[in-house]
Amino acid sequence: MHIDARTLDNGTLIEGDLCIIGAGAAGISIALEWMGSPRKVILLEGGGFNVEMQMQALYHGESVDRPYYPLQSAVLHYFGGTTGHWAGYCSPFDPIDFEKRDWVPHSGWPITRPQLDPFYARANKILELGPYEYDAAYWERQDPDVRRLPLDGRAFYPKMWQFSPPTRMGNVYRDPIVNAPNVHLYTYANVVEIVPNNGVTAIESLRAKTIDGKEHRVRARHYVAACGAIHNARLLLASNSRATRGLGNGNDLVGRFFMEHFEIIAAQTVFETAQPFKLYTLPGAGPTRARAEMALTGERQRQHRILNGTASFQGGPLTGKEQSRFAWFSDDAEANVKERQAQRPGANRSPAPQTVYRMFTRQEQAPNPESRIMLSPEKDQMGMPRANLHWRFTKLDKRSIRVFYQLLGQEMGRAGLGRVQLMDWLLDGDDDAWPNILSGGWHHMGTARMHEDPKQGVVDRNCKVHGLANLFVAGAAVYPTGGAVNPTLTLVALALRLADHLKNRVLV
Ligand SMILES: Cc1cc2nc3c(=O)[nH]c(=O)nc-3n(C[C@H](O)[C@H](O)[C@H](O)COP(=O)(O)OP(=O)(O)OC[C@H]3O[C@@H](n4cnc5c(N)ncnc54)[C@H](O)[C@@H]3O)c2cc1C
Repeated sequence: MHIDARTLDNGTLIEGDLCIIGAGAAGISIALEWMGSPRKVILLEGGGFNVEMQMQALYHGESVDRPYYPLQSAVLHYFGGTTGHWAGYCSPFDPIDFEKRDWVPHSGWPITRPQLDPFYARANKILELGPYEYDAAYWERQDPDVRRLPLDGRAFYPKMWQFSPPTRMGNVYRDPIVNAPNVHLYTYANVVEIVPNNGVTAIESLRAKTIDGKEHRVRARHYVAACGAIHNARLLLASNSRATRGLGNGNDLVGRFFMEHFEIIAAQTVFETAQPFKLYTLPGAGPTRARAEMALTGERQRQHRILNGTASFQGGPLTGKEQSRFAWFSDDAEANVKERQAQRPGANRSPAPQTVYRMFTRQEQAPNPESRIMLSPEKDQMGMPRANLHWRFTKLDKRSIRVFYQLLGQEMGRAGLGRVQLMDWLLDGDDDAWPNILSGGWHHMGTARMHEDPKQGVVDRNCKVHGLANLFVAGAAVYPTGGAVNPTLTLVALALRLADHLKNRVLV
């Protein structure tokens, strides 16, 4: 059922069992799981069914410390959320991503990769991916031309990606959601405050505003904040009428540990002879679109005390004209969104075997409490403080990229395949200095991290906010570390896990 919140009388009270705030990848995944249940689900979406610049303007904010994509176009504010222009790259996190690594401060998830595996398999279907197969050996068996480079598998291995069409969740799942009798989707319902009880032990209601000035109340037994990592933090921090530091923020953790993936050209590889490259180029291996990136095993990461990262091959040598993607974007949110929506995975890649490739790094960022989302003194049209981004790095971030390519160079030489030339910025002797060719992946993670100890995390292993009986967080905000790969498959898996938890344990 669909209701446009602008058509309701001012001050309407909306009541249900489960209330999900935000209809993006995480929120829609939970709603899909709850379809057909005897419980009433309220799905509140701030935007409508299409991108509107007036709604995007609510997301305007400053990137205070360093360049970043304009925040009003880096995430989308309408039904389907940022899947309205995501690129569809998917791969599960590695087992080491969940471990406590003594060389990565604040690392360690309270859950393991095997615990998430069944949910990954279900998430694969929601994102319209192929079989839940991410072992390169499976893809090699499908096609004799698909072969890995002959490197020592104890050091480097081909980490597989699959490519979603990309699923625009707002298009694909609109009818099922709107036609589900127990799911009540309210569009143009912007939650501006999550209101706790007097003792701040549970949530009592929500305040939801429409762009034309109405305000409604929403009451449910349980609430899930699924607004994306920037706006989950913003909403928790701005919900400060009874908890002065914001909800879940008794230990000053909400908004901290913001993480992205470093995406940057870092080296070039020169092969003695052209190698079979089908495994590493798009569309890759058979009917399902899949391809590998070069990755360092967990064992070698442990040995060299570095972060997890991968490298993909881009045909042709370094030109000296490499650019950051940040430079492509203007403050014109409409143009930015159109450009992204036109992009498809694999565009501009050359599958022809060559001998020289530029190496494109995708690497996790070490969790850093100083890297954070904070409220701005400036307010949006709804009267909500805007979100500002303070994106900050550590020395381990840059050192890890350098060591990765040094090891790759050693291994290419040992195998007699060729050599690797690192770019100057990796060898400048200053691990606090970053070149202006740095980009991020539009991957926002870590602002409401998961930890069993309330002093170290905002949510527990079930994504419940510590200290609040009925408030949960869905999305990459809960990641304690960001892994090397794109975040959406993992956040959908976690959302499905949360949907099951709520069904089986909380709302029975
Ligand atoms: C250009 C681009 C390319 C990308 N490519 C990839 C990729 O290849 N692979 C990958 O894994 N990831 C990719 N991503 C990231 C991916 O889009 C996100 O990880 C994913 O959409 C996050 O899901 P989410 O549900 O947490 O947030 P979102 O999808 O952003 O959804 C949040 C929803 O909450 C709503 N909302 C927010 N605040 C409120 C409020 N106060 N009240 C009511 N509703 C609210 C929003 O309108 C939105 O619908 C890309 C992102 C961009 C921008």
